[in-house]
Amino acid sequence: YYLNQIEQQAHLNIYVEVYAEEALERARTLDARYQQSPGELGRLYGMVLSHKDVICYAGHGVQAGSKILEGFESLYSATAIERLLAEDAIIIGRVNCDEFAMGSSNETSHFGPVRNAADPDRVPGGSSGGSAVAVQADTCLASLGSDTGGSVRQPASFCGVIGMKPTYGRISRHGLLAYGSSFDQIGTLTHSVEDAALLLEIMSGPDEYDSTASQKPVPTAAEIKIAPYGKRIAYFPSALQHESIQPEVRATAQTFIQQLQEEGHTVEGVEFDLLDYLIPAYYVLTTAEASSNLSRYDGIRYGYRSKNATDLLSTYQQSRTEGFGTEVKRRIMLGTFVLSAGYYDAYYTKAQKVRRLLKEKTDAIFRDYDFIMMPAAPTTAWKLGDKSADPVEMYLADIFTVQANMAGIPAICIPVGSDDAGLPIGMQLMGPKFAETALLSLASTLI
Ligand code: GLN
Repeated sequence: YYLNQIEQQAHLNIYVEVYAEEALERARTLDARYQQSPGELGRLYGMVLSHKDVICYAGHGVQAGSKILEGFESLYSATAIERLLAEDAIIIGRVNCDEFAMGSSNETSHFGPVRNAADPDRVPGGSSGGSAVAVQADTCLASLGSDTGGSVRQPASFCGVIGMKPTYGRISRHGLLAYGSSFDQIGTLTHSVEDAALLLEIMSGPDEYDSTASQKPVPTAAEIKIAPYGKRIAYFPSALQHESIQPEVRATAQTFIQQLQEEGHTVEGVEFDLLDYLIPAYYVLTTAEASSNLSRYDGIRYGYRSKNATDLLSTYQQSRTEGFGTEVKRRIMLGTFVLSAGYYDAYYTKAQKVRRLLKEKTDAIFRDYDFIMMPAAPTTAWKLGDKSADPVEMYLADIFTVQANMAGIPAICIPVGSDDAGLPIGMQLMGPKFAETALLSLASTLI
């Protein structure tokens, strides 16, 4: 069914590679095992998944939507993938994304943009646009994405699916191609909260290959069955009044607040004056980390090597010049600049201070409230090309999602409405660190 569906939806440009034969073979083998002893199959038996092109799967290509990794094959699988396979999931293919997960519209990919299944003239959001549309267009049951500043939640909002970004460190980053290492986290795109909870449980937990993977006990999917009541939920009037917000998104947020109140929760506006500092601080810090992380792509060790190079230095220069796209180059330059002597304190150190302030402010809110509620994005999906000419306008699309990554907290986006044109609108709930169970429980009562 899914392979057929992938063919039917080929115009959406979701898949970079489909593992058709392999997936069918695995399905047959699992089926044979099921016939023999049904009780012995893993918890993901029957679940067909795809993975974003930044997550390694041994023996398969991985390119981060970039030419610079052309022809590169993973030698090992990401810990998250290993754990899914151990529970008998079937992985059907790897999906398109913004180059090195840098983008909010999936238009920076070397493989061309992904299209939104709700309206193929519109973007799916990014950078996990392929993952969101893979689920939206029913080409797999669930998909793995990565979220550095909203890349799971914002496409979920644009495509009407559920996007979950766990606490920083909940899922091992081993085998996830690094963008901003102190922000990156693997997340899921699913149709149901139950699937998100199950995948989270299976992928989470300590990992000897990632020292930042948390030792904390892993929440079990069964725990989300307990419906929360009488929770205290904060929202920021400054966000709902923000100049960038589309009126239908504001109206949907207001309806959502009413829904929360009708469910027996207390919802209160809280003063929050850091909103306009989030995007600048986020883009200083993540470009700094990216400029360092991407220095490994030198034309020698991985993937693409320029044919025009004549010596070592020109191998580096030409391979990187020809291999990286415009947005990635812009960020490497920006990151190198903010880390350079003379500018470090003015930009990098200052942005770190903003990050610290934001963490403290966020923690303070969670002393009085159980959750924070916010739209996932200020607008619905825009037309392909609409924001491509102005990177700053594109960056501003992340205004509501970067807080969770800066503070390292878990956040989920659930579909709750649509605009006048019928395009999906998602609302976001954030919780304190490691409060995924509470977050998922609340989300499951709201859709
Ligand atoms: N749009 C944001 C960026 O371009 C977020 C990307 C992400 O979460 N990977 O950095």
